[in-house]
Amino acid sequence: MQIVNSTEDNAEDPPCCTQHFDSLKEFRSAGRGAWAEVPAHDWNDWHWQLKNRITTVERLRRLMPALTAEELAGAALANHKLALAITPCFFNLIDQDDENCPIRWQVIPRGEETLVSPWEMEDPCGEDSHSPVPGLVHRYPDRVLFLVTDRCAAYCRYCTRSRLVSNASGYDFHPEFDRQIEYVRSHRQVRDVLLSGGDPLLFSDEKLEYLLSRLRAIPHVEFVRIGTRIPVFLPQRVTPALCEMLAKFHPLFISIHSNHPRELTTEVREALERLANAGIPLGNQSVLLRHVNDDALVMKAHVQKLLLCRVKPYYIYQCDLIAGSAHLRSSVRKGLQIMESLRGHTSGYAVPQYVIDTPGGGGKVPVNPDYILSRNRERVVVRNYEGKVFEYPEAEDGTPLAPRPVEVEEPECV
Ligand code: SF4
Repeated sequence: MQIVNSTEDNAEDPPCCTQHFDSLKEFRSAGRGAWAEVPAHDWNDWHWQLKNRITTVERLRRLMPALTAEELAGAALANHKLALAITPCFFNLIDQDDENCPIRWQVIPRGEETLVSPWEMEDPCGEDSHSPVPGLVHRYPDRVLFLVTDRCAAYCRYCTRSRLVSNASGYDFHPEFDRQIEYVRSHRQVRDVLLSGGDPLLFSDEKLEYLLSRLRAIPHVEFVRIGTRIPVFLPQRVTPALCEMLAKFHPLFISIHSNHPRELTTEVREALERLANAGIPLGNQSVLLRHVNDDALVMKAHVQKLLLCRVKPYYIYQCDLIAGSAHLRSSVRKGLQIMESLRGHTSGYAVPQYVIDTPGGGGKVPVNPDYILSRNRERVVVRNYEGKVFEYPEAEDGTPLAPRPVEVEEPECV
């Protein structure tokens, strides 16, 4: 490979405020906040956390007197669209003095949720049209999405399944486990099952074990995954007993969902450590969100902090065109800038794949900055993260260039 040239605009690392960056990467406890009087055994009990979620506008106003007009309007309407629910431990991460707090934008409803553009959809990924039986989505050849519940520990205001989760808009979701499992059993090409919802880790250990056992009993199911935001919203749920039960079902992978480094508290790190110690490979899926993480510095701190928690950053999703989410969506241009700021500037393990889940149900498409500058029959011209340009030779038929015989000069006669 030969350096040919250097482009101008990618030659430097993105500007970095070291102090701000370091503070983003600090691990802190969520603390008890307004629940300082609650005994530790209650606070650390996931049932207590669920029972004491903030679910009404009145309670939210009591705990957070300085709600903005947009938030008040959103909270008043929330339970007709996507329910309001925030666990106390996640609520304590909100900076009440900061209207732009990234935690706040994710879980506090806003009036803008009622503004719907013509290109927005209730089911932006076309899941319902790829659902052969209730609760099962079969879109890719060898894997299925197996929805188990419509409940989550807290509700994300940009949720791609907000038509379904929390049942606030009357979708009336009823998974049918027998039919879902029968579908998997009778489709031998399905080797990978992703349990999602709603959040599967809201099930009791017994119910989850029953479901996993039935899936594991299908010989062609090689690989089971769980998609969950519980380790972030409700780290108390990740008990040693849960981890011990999950460890019976290897290979079992877990994809968590975290968007901002502040979510990775000491409690969350400990919960992730328990899962990792049970031998479960962990990945993270972030959604690119305006006001939350559409910033190169924040995203870099986040992916590096995830590695400290033994979690591989797996995907950054372009936010789906979910109805009423325009105020939270960032641009693809911004997403590409962020990817440009990561690739080469930090460990490859820390760099997730940026994807667009294509509107209408075409599946995920990887989206990358352009590193290939040109390609012809003889060479591929690429640039690196510094903007330096290189050529890689190829033969006309696309195979690697075969070595050419070296011409040996005849010795001169003397
Ligand atoms: S945890 Fe997942 S399924 Fe639940 S509201 Fe958030 S994004 Fe939606």
